[in-house]
Amino acid sequence: MLDGERETVRALVGDQAGVWDRAGLLPLELLRKLGGLGLLSAQIPAAHGGRGADSRTNGEFTAYVGSLCSSLRSVMTSQGMAAWTIERLGTREQHRAFLPGLSSGQLAAVGFSETDAGSDLSAIGTRIRRDGDSVVVDGAKRWITASHYADLLVIVGQYDDGAAAVVIPADTPGVHVERVAEPMGCRAAGHADLRFDSVRVPAENVLGGTGLPLPLVVTAALGYGRMSVAWGCVGILRACLDAAATHAKGRQQFGKPIAEHQLVARHIAELYVSEQIASRACEHASGRWDAKSPDMVVAAVTAKHIGAGHAARGAAAAVQVLASAGAQDGHVVARAYRDAKLMEIIEGSNEICQLILSQHALSHAE
Ligand code: FAD
Repeated sequence: MLDGERETVRALVGDQAGVWDRAGLLPLELLRKLGGLGLLSAQIPAAHGGRGADSRTNGEFTAYVGSLCSSLRSVMTSQGMAAWTIERLGTREQHRAFLPGLSSGQLAAVGFSETDAGSDLSAIGTRIRRDGDSVVVDGAKRWITASHYADLLVIVGQYDDGAAAVVIPADTPGVHVERVAEPMGCRAAGHADLRFDSVRVPAENVLGGTGLPLPLVVTAALGYGRMSVAWGCVGILRACLDAAATHAKGRQQFGKPIAEHQLVARHIAELYVSEQIASRACEHASGRWDAKSPDMVVAAVTAKHIGAGHAARGAAAAVQVLASAGAQDGHVVARAYRDAKLMEIIEGSNEICQLILSQHALSHAE
């Protein structure tokens, strides 16, 4: 499943990823086309017009897209995270109202982070308050991937005594979207800062209808996001391994291919090992997801943490192997180097992942 769709994506992306990266924009028609084919969020169930892919199949597809263009993969992550949040927290009516659009070309983004609430989401200051048949949203979000392109914004805020996620059409009066200037990586992923000034939407747009504990809201969305980023890191590693191995075989120095110099061969071996470790961690986590196992949450954090670290180190090694041949803006390994570093920050930074994993390990100790 989705094997034929790789050719579709390959043909649509062509050799444009570097051009889009430098321009800081993906073509909107590309996103509409892939969204319309249900490929930006292939796990949406068939009952809601989606592809109904399992986590493993969607993950391999995500890795493939990530090997071509991390900006496009980032937009996929946001779209899938929005769809999963709606699926996980929403009612049947909300599934029917929002999910078919996300499989047929509508684009979505998810906003948690704020200026004073990055790693510590308990500090979220955005307020969602009930007013008759509506809710009114006031607050601001930072660095929201894909929100420059999005038709729908899934926004997390404080609600009553708990928290809620609310679906806000991006063209609602009071929504302000301002692009993040010159991001270091994933430059075409449409990151933007958002402001909500007394934004009024129907109360039916609050997912689940009532306030929920903040950790439940956050874990629901981030679970998908972490899986998707982890598979995206596998894609980065595969692109880097391919570029480094091809270059090392062809480039001659000191009378032989640089692949035959053992210090270069070691970079290739380490890249291969990184790709294998990250792939196995993702396969395991997707297996737990598809089995609906309670340990899928910790398996996703583990896969994301492994993937991000290996992708950041692997991309640096690939730049080292290509040296001047890869040191130009827009080159696949130069992009990977910048993109991979950001993977160590998003969906739980390295340190936050380590805290989660240590708490998990400690809770199992005698
Ligand atoms: P801070 O929280 O200020 O952390 C700074 C440093 O301190 C980090 O190294 C962190 O790990 C460390 N640190 C913080 N607390 C602890 C602790 N208790 N123990 C140990 N170390 C700690 N947000 C969204 O809501 N939606 C998006 O789509 C989205 N996309 C993004 C895309 C990109 C490319 C980037 C860069 C960010 C995106 N974000 C998004 C925001 C992202 O989630 C936050 O950047 C991230 O949570 C870290 O928050 P912060 O940047 O405020 O860092």
